[in-house]
Amino acid sequence: NLTGKTAIITGSTSGIGLGVAESLAAAGASVVINSFSDRPEDHAQAAGLAEKYGVPVRYIAADMSDGAACRALIEKAGACDILVNNAGIQHVSPIDQFPVEKWNQILAINLSSAFHTTAAALPLMRAKGWGRVVNIASAHGLTASPFKGAYVAAKHGVVGFTKVTALECAGQGITANAICPGYVLTPLVEAQIPDQMKVHNMDREAVIRNVLLERQPSKQFATVEQVGGTTLFLCSPAADQITGTTISVDGGWTAL
Ligand code: NAD
Repeated sequence: NLTGKTAIITGSTSGIGLGVAESLAAAGASVVINSFSDRPEDHAQAAGLAEKYGVPVRYIAADMSDGAACRALIEKAGACDILVNNAGIQHVSPIDQFPVEKWNQILAINLSSAFHTTAAALPLMRAKGWGRVVNIASAHGLTASPFKGAYVAAKHGVVGFTKVTALECAGQGITANAICPGYVLTPLVEAQIPDQMKVHNMDREAVIRNVLLERQPSKQFATVEQVGGTTLFLCSPAADQITGTTISVDGGWTAL
């Protein structure tokens, strides 16, 4: 039970971040959801989650590509017992054509944001003698694919940074781990299916099996609920001595 704990999940208005936020709220945590926009509907989404789970939920806008904004997110939240670094974007291009701007943006959002939020959160966790840092890396934090240079570099970086965080917090009641999902059917992935059906002249099931899940041996998507459940496990007493490591939720991808 996470009653009395405050959880901050970056990039959590959709997909995996939202799934993790819902799992933590369902377990009783006070939750802060985040994205870069600051619209009435963002705050309404927080109010909807608060209503659904009967816990305090706030939306705090912060652009995770901006280091000062990352730190300000933690300061505005005022407490951070559980930090889930989830915000991330993708761009697919060969190295010699990879736009420099995209490289810098992916490194900032997918990797450097975790440095800034962690730096701001650790003093709050140390003051309480308890904390959980859960970094949403990827199967691409452990293996590579062509044309995803920035993403693979950033996610490997997240795995390395997770280990350093764990070592610096060892014995302080604070753990740091990375979850490495394979393909998860988020709205972002769902939106690609119609285009892939046209390009490959395949039906939906064939696209899912032969294109999207080509490298996922289970031929099943991981779900946001499964990533949320894994996060909950890492927040439980059973995981007190699990730190500085990765947990794959990838249907066997990294066993290949
Ligand atoms: P998504 O696009 O559905 O969600 C991304 C979230 O991040 C959104 O809420 C978006 O608003 C937010 N975001 C984007 N840029 C931001 C910024 N600059 N500042 C703050 N918030 C920002 O994506 P998703 O599929 O849920 O991915 C979430 C995380 O999981 C990412 O780190 C991604 O790399 C990782 N991941 C996803 C998959 C997958 O198959 N979907 C697999 C492995 C890892």
